[in-house]
Amino acid sequence: MTLKLYNTLGRKLETFTPRHSDEVGLYTCGPTVYNTAHIGNLRTYIFEDILRRTLQLDGYRVKHVMNITDVGHLTGDGDMGEDKIAKASRETKRDAYAIAREFEVAFFSDIQKLNILPPTITLRATETIALQIELIEKLESNGFTYRTSDGIYFDTAKLPTYGQLSGQSSADKKAGARVEVNDEKHTPTDFALWKFSKPEDQRQMEWPSPWGVGFPGWHIECSAMSLSEFPNGLDIHCGGIDHIAVHHENELAQNEAAGRKDFVKFWMHGEFLVTDKRMGKSEGNAVTLSDLGVDPLFYRYLCLLTHYRKQLSYSQDSLQAAGNALMNLWMKLDGEKLDRSIKPISKYIESFTSALNNDLNTPEALGIMHEMMSDKEYERSEKVSTLAVFDTVLALDLTPEAAAPHIATTGHEALLLEYITARKEHRFDDSDKIRQQFSDLGILVEDTPSGSRLRKA
Ligand code: AMP
Ligand code: ZN
Repeated sequence: MTLKLYNTLGRKLETFTPRHSDEVGLYTCGPTVYNTAHIGNLRTYIFEDILRRTLQLDGYRVKHVMNITDVGHLTGDGDMGEDKIAKASRETKRDAYAIAREFEVAFFSDIQKLNILPPTITLRATETIALQIELIEKLESNGFTYRTSDGIYFDTAKLPTYGQLSGQSSADKKAGARVEVNDEKHTPTDFALWKFSKPEDQRQMEWPSPWGVGFPGWHIECSAMSLSEFPNGLDIHCGGIDHIAVHHENELAQNEAAGRKDFVKFWMHGEFLVTDKRMGKSEGNAVTLSDLGVDPLFYRYLCLLTHYRKQLSYSQDSLQAAGNALMNLWMKLDGEKLDRSIKPISKYIESFTSALNNDLNTPEALGIMHEMMSDKEYERSEKVSTLAVFDTVLALDLTPEAAAPHIATTGHEALLLEYITARKEHRFDDSDKIRQQFSDLGILVEDTPSGSRLRKA
């Protein structure tokens, strides 16, 4: 089956084939770890997970690399403002590394709750400084850099192809550019590769470099990591749509200026999740996964109902409706068994796979799943087998075994939370009492390395 994906570079659907036989190189931009990820950020990681799982369904092995931005991302998202982690450190009077590690752990915990596969390789910006310096040196020797009083900049005018990803020329961007007061830039689209530590700043995260003590710009980390992890080229590079105009445009420019034209085959971007206002960690109106107060997979299901290239307008009602639909599916699996000797229904596997291969059409794939579930021509056991195959991509716990804890938890979320809190606080008398309460209701509490879950006794 042919896999068609929308390539931002060229703005069209294209047939995807990887460069190297059966392994796909995938690079996804990771979180800036100064705060808990909001549900908008998580929508992008869910889209990338569907992409990865679709590639796997198609039989590819996937080498998936993700960065952790623990330095260099400035509050203005450009070259001005304060480093987001340094700012959090100044405001909370906490160690910058401690903040970054705390939110990195929180990020991995969130993605685990959403059944998002962890990357094959995760690299931190602060631990790849040498690679980044090496790349800046290469750009310098190729004649693409200049020095200002606050750093080393990339000279976008030197690269005739600059602007190809967003389809905006340097001149268009000049007209629409956010006003950044930096008279020393040759062109407004130029961007920092290395910023010098200011004498008045007391930065914890700074390193010596051939140009002076400082820290890397935000875009250089992703180019440095991807160029070093994929020496033979990268198949797909992803992020949210806000990355097209600046972060990815600049990454692409760095790659080309380093002599790696066509290094990335496909650039893919997920549309935003929106609320009545722009949701942002910095705007202070960010809703986190735990704020939702529902089973995290309800949120995953909600995201899959909208195609990744369409805006998703979030509301509590839509979340609840998605939750009800998913709970219905889980209930249908109650008391069933997955018998691996029973063949999945090939007609539905085919249409499901074809929907996903059509630029990851998850709304259509979910429609096919519901059609299959209500098709009277097939036995329940065949449906259970088919659902298990669908779930390798949907990852909504649609097997009897995986669904069971969700069913058992319904209606008991508050008591389970009390149990978890009691254990966390080492109040084992209390947690034992709650365990007994559950037992009286015919429910077992299982303590697993990924958390406590309920199961019908
Ligand atoms: P950050 O942690 O800010 O670097 O962002 C992590 C990812 O979330 C990036 O791929 C962003 O493009 C993406 N992102 C940011 N805001 C939203 C949103 N409201 N909806 C979807 N994705 C978003
Ligand atoms: Zn990136």
